[in-house]
Parts: sequence; structure tokens; C-alpha cells
Amino acid sequence: MVKFDYFEPKSVEQACAFLERHADEAKLIAGGTALLIWMRMMLLNPHVVVSLARIPGFDSISFDPKDGLRIKAGARHRDIELDPAVREHYPLLYETFRKVAQPRIRNMGTIGGNLCQGDPLTDPGASLIAMDAEITLTSSKAKRTLPLEKFFVDYYQTDLRPGEILIEIRVPLPARPLGWAHIKFLPRSQEDFATVGVALVLRGNALGKRRRSCAAKRSPMIESGRWRRWPRMKSIPWMTTAAPPITNVT
Ligand SMILES: Cc1cc2nc3c(=O)[nH]c(=O)nc-3n(C[C@H](O)[C@H](O)[C@H](O)COP(=O)(O)OP(=O)(O)OC[C@H]3O[C@@H](n4cnc5c(N)ncnc54)[C@H](O)[C@@H]3O)c2cc1C
Repeated sequence: MVKFDYFEPKSVEQACAFLERHADEAKLIAGGTALLIWMRMMLLNPHVVVSLARIPGFDSISFDPKDGLRIKAGARHRDIELDPAVREHYPLLYETFRKVAQPRIRNMGTIGGNLCQGDPLTDPGASLIAMDAEITLTSSKAKRTLPLEKFFVDYYQTDLRPGEILIEIRVPLPARPLGWAHIKFLPRSQEDFATVGVALVLRGNALGKRRRSCAAKRSPMIESGRWRRWPRMKSIPWMTTAAPPITNVT
């Protein structure tokens, strides 16, 4: 690994200032579970590493029935899995986060790092898109909020702009869904990355009117069967699609 300078800012503003000052030379680090692997493989060689780990409150999770769930980007997978409000009001997220890797990774990896890595093999993005999550990004120049769905551009490519930090993920409180599921296909071991993952939320009223189903899924390559119905599946790893109305839900 090459030598690098390491900074531990105490606020998001300070972190943004470091990013602005060191521009292309700097890389953020949160849990380090992805970045350090890339650095060890010499795929990334930042001269400056800016840690988000010492920013007070950057890992907090809060819930309000009107506002929904607000997860700061530094929250670890395990924090989200164990949060009582997540378990009670967002069972799809509980189900998703408890299946991310294994406890050692869940105790280090953050939601911000997971989303910003843009890795199509990871789990939370699909479920968060299915729940209509939006994210807030900030830099020393501006702050913006956008639907998470728009953040994923392609494999390992996100809409993260130079100098930006993902600070928060907001998940609206869902109207009681008719059903939900997160399924990952693991060809080898339980803690491996999934080859295919699908998150699904079914919404609608009891009479069957205005029902819609919203699915988010990602796959490096799905070639056969019913999946062909989604023509852009091969080139776009993250997407949401409207499915036909549901007539029979048990
Ligand atoms: C053995 C193993 C198994 C795994 N299995 C799974 C799995 O089953 N499911 C799954 O979903 N994931 C899995 N992962 C991936 C893991 O979830 C991610 O590595 C982790 O979430 C990344 O978070 P981090 O905080 O460690 O990110 P880091 O490694 O610190 O950062 C990753 C990238 O994001 C950038 N970044 C970090 N935080 C921010 C921010 N707030 N704003 C802007 N940019 C930021 C960094 O600059 C870097 O480019 C696995 C990883 C390993 C090593």
C-alpha cells in the first residue's frame, strides 16, 4: 500500500473542506471494508484519506411517524439491523440488513459506504429504492436531495460529484404494505455477496383499487426466463419497475 496522509475531521463541514482542498488526491473512508480492499489491490491510491468515523452523530438513526426514518450515512449495517424502529416499522429493511455479509462486516461497514461504492452486488440499495428512499448529499458549495434510484448510474458508478459527501438517507413511512420481500441468491456461502438480489414492496388498498407493485433489483447479468421482460436489466444494475396490478394477495 502506498503512503497517504490521514485526517479525522470532527464535522461534516471540516470533511468537505478537506475534500475541496485536496480535490482529486483525497478519498473518504467510513468503515473501510471496501476502500481498503481496493487500496490493497492498488486499484485506488489516494494521497489523502479523510475519515468520517469521528464526526459526532454521523451514525445516528431517528424515526418520526410523520417524517419517516432518517439514517445518517455513518450508521453501520448492524446499527440499522438492531434499531427498534427499523424492526417495527420497516421489516423489509430489517430483513435486508440482517443478511448483509456476516456480523464482522456489519459492525464495520456503513450504509453511506455501501451506497457510495455503487457495487451492484450489495443488498441495501435495492430495498431502499423499493421503499422510495431519498438521499442528501453535501459539499462545501451546495446541498442536494434526490431519490436514491437516481443515484445509481451503472456498475460502480454513482452520481456522487467531486467534493460531495452522502450525509443522510430518509425513508418515508410506508402505508401499511400488502407484502414485502428481499431475496438474495447465494451460490456459495451464506456470507458471500449475492449473485442476484430482489427487493419487492406491494402496496394498495383492500379493495384492489390503485394497487401497484414496486420492485427494485439488481443483477450483473440475467439471461433467461421471465427476467427478459425487463430489457434494460443487463446494462442498468439498479432499477425500479411497475408490475401489473395484483389481483390476489394472500
Ligand atoms: C467479505 C465481505 C462480504 C460482504 N458481503 C456483503 C453482503 O452480503 N451484502 C452487502 O450489501 N454488502 C456486502 N459487503 C460490502 C459491505 O457492505 C461494504 O463494503 C460496506 O458497506 C462499505 O461500507 P464502508 O463504510 O466500509 O465503506 P468504505 O470502504 O469506507 O468506503 C467505500 C466507498 O464509499 C466512499 N464513501 C464512504 N462513505 C461515504 C460518504 N458518506 N459519502 C461519500 N462517499 C463515501 C469511500 O470514499 C469509498 O469510495 C461485503 C464486504 C466484504 C468485505
